Amino acid sequence: MAKPSKFLRTLSETRNWKLHEAGLLARVGRHWFGVESTSMTPDNLVIRTTVVPLSNEAIEKLKAWIGEKTNRESLVKGTLMVENGSLVFVTAKAPLSRAAGMPDAVANLLAGLAREFDALGLEPACHRCAASGSHAAAALGGRPVELCDTCFGELSETMAATREGNRKEGSYLTGFFGALAGGIVGIVPWILIGQLGFIAALAGLIMAFLADRGYRLFRGRIGRGMPWIVLGVLLVSVVLATFLGISVSLMLEDPAWGFADAILLPIVLLAEPDFLLAILKDLGLGILFAGLGSFGLINNMRKEGAGAHLTIQRI
Ligand SMILES: [Zn+2]
Repeated sequence: MAKPSKFLRTLSETRNWKLHEAGLLARVGRHWFGVESTSMTPDNLVIRTTVVPLSNEAIEKLKAWIGEKTNRESLVKGTLMVENGSLVFVTAKAPLSRAAGMPDAVANLLAGLAREFDALGLEPACHRCAASGSHAAAALGGRPVELCDTCFGELSETMAATREGNRKEGSYLTGFFGALAGGIVGIVPWILIGQLGFIAALAGLIMAFLADRGYRLFRGRIGRGMPWIVLGVLLVSVVLATFLGISVSLMLEDPAWGFADAILLPIVLLAEPDFLLAILKDLGLGILFAGLGSFGLINNMRKEGAGAHLTIQRI
């Protein structure tokens, strides 16, 4: 989860809707809306609420309303989705970070939705169990929602147990080997993409993704050390990929090169200042792009390791 976007901060200030870690909780009439827009994707908007009883007919009417409303105002283009027959999501792609009228447009959208809910006889409900009624708000993994007392109690217990389990289960050592295996597999796409003539952040993302998968597959511990292990593995993998990339280029240019010689040559050439400089430049770029590509994933691992998604509190 990234920081709330500037748009969300403005919306929060102008409407007096309190901003929480992952979004704000807007209360409009009887209804509640979790509104999210992060600084990483400032033009994406997610609105979340729970209403009951949501018949197919009501869903169709809401979808038609959203379509018409967003088409007419052409500021927020939204799609409505329903999950478990009670959770309503409106996702929208809108010029939130550019158009000045966006906070008003989104506030109008929420007010309109609340009116539609009332007109269709829909009641606000608990985010988890869909029990109707007005419940207290809670931050669930940083995300503001309304939860009934029963769900709040149950979730608090499950999350505490999971946090405790994560602390004890798995091992950093097996996780390291898993991440290393993943990182080494990630060298292949890295070199392939490099042979196409460009270094791409995409290669770093693939490598980080594979290291992350490997870490979990080998039952690495979900703890604060997790992102650091994966980062270390990424660094080693980028160094290996850079050297192997040179070897592959050598063999492709001149098939007379034997495999062992092609592997050894870049290492031997390190004694040459010109070559050393060139390879340091390649390494620097590789690390930069790997960093760019894997930033989001590593940041999520950092939060997961710290148990950020397993927090719940009344707000
Ligand atoms: Zn509930």
